[in-house]
Amino acid sequence: MSDQPTDDELAAALRALRIEQPTAGVNKLHASLLAAHTTWLVSQKRTHKILQREQLLLGTNTGSSKPGAKSNAPEYRLNQLLDVSKLSKKIDVKDFGKPKGKGIVLTEPVKQGETVWKEDPFIFAATWEVLDHVHRGNACAHCISQIKPGSSLIMTCPGSRLPDAPRPCSVRFCSRLCLQRAVTHPLICTAQNPSIIPLLLLSRELQWQALLALATCAARIVLATDELDQREAFEIYQSLAYVEPGSALWKQIIRPTEAQVQKGYDVYKAALVDTKDEQSALLRKTLKTAVPLPENMHKELFTPEGYRRGIARMNLNLEQNGGLHALHSHLNHSCDPNVSAKHVEQRTALSRLSVISHRDLEAGEELTISYVDPSHPVHARRLNLRAWGIPHCDCKQCTDQEKELKDKGEWVDETTANSTAVPAAVAPTADGSDPMPQKDLDNLEGEIKQHLGFF
Ligand SMILES: [Zn+2]
Ligand SMILES: [Zn+2]
Ligand SMILES: [Zn+2]
Repeated sequence: MSDQPTDDELAAALRALRIEQPTAGVNKLHASLLAAHTTWLVSQKRTHKILQREQLLLGTNTGSSKPGAKSNAPEYRLNQLLDVSKLSKKIDVKDFGKPKGKGIVLTEPVKQGETVWKEDPFIFAATWEVLDHVHRGNACAHCISQIKPGSSLIMTCPGSRLPDAPRPCSVRFCSRLCLQRAVTHPLICTAQNPSIIPLLLLSRELQWQALLALATCAARIVLATDELDQREAFEIYQSLAYVEPGSALWKQIIRPTEAQVQKGYDVYKAALVDTKDEQSALLRKTLKTAVPLPENMHKELFTPEGYRRGIARMNLNLEQNGGLHALHSHLNHSCDPNVSAKHVEQRTALSRLSVISHRDLEAGEELTISYVDPSHPVHARRLNLRAWGIPHCDCKQCTDQEKELKDKGEWVDETTANSTAVPAAVAPTADGSDPMPQKDLDNLEGEIKQHLGFF
């Protein structure tokens, strides 16, 4: 059996491969494409055409980087309700204007190794391996710390006691406090809200963390029990940077095909809005304690356009372990970052982030993390950064390396030359990365998994 993929399917497959193989030439990508899709009949010429259309050829520069160029920079707004001083007196939020957006600057000097701030996640949508751990009841479904066997503090999900649940819920919480704080769980629980099951299955099948994260954000806002808390939660959500659905940037950052994005909308709405028939009595009781959702919030969360902005918000702001943080999401990228975010409170609150400085820093300096592996060559970094809505990184690190390669005659530009060979100098320094882009790779990969005993 062989078949012809549509242009959209081909583009989605090539975007995923490009992220895995940021320095591969057309020949190599074409070979990987056919290896991954053994029934596809695709010529190398067609692969080249789609790579060109999607601006995935090595050397592609999509950034006119004109300040204010609408389709070339994520949209953003400042969080009007965020009190930064509550988290740390050492920092402030600064609006740099487009295309850069907002960022975080120091208000006082900090020393190398100093913790600049600590922050619990707004929501946490764990990666699949960690989620398996949670679903087996081995990690707390709220703070994701390891559950100590035999601990007298362990609480089970109230949904685990529902007799008619189509899919029982076996998650556990490390303490009563975590159970109380797990305010999004009733809508994400397979026993209390069976309508969530198709969403969980789809996001898992496509390894699409953004969909689950968005549902968790919506659950957080829908289930808020007082108006101020709801307004604050919505403000955090709404002030996350996003890209306009349908823009060139949108295509660069969204991995699933158009049909998958649409299917995602259907299961998302079915799970959170049209759940009435399938809700357990327990969930209905919880929903009664929530404040009504104002029209503007409903619109931003649940219209097709709002949903698409939401997916982009998740893509641009989730940290690599699946946490979404009100303040951490402000940190801009640098290929030479000066802070990193770490999960250091392993025993008590594994999902809590600590932002720690790499070197002595002056007041006024902007704090930055790296959204991609800073040890990768410049081509690889720039291609991977496009998934973060950064069309073309022009930082000192990148321009210096580009110049160095050009001086040595080793610069590859597939958009002007027909060369598809990649010289050794730009071969990846690390082997294939995860198909999902990962923010802040300086953060030890799998820090959380490691603590939970994966390796
Ligand atoms: Zn816990
Ligand atoms: Zn549950
Ligand atoms: Zn750079």
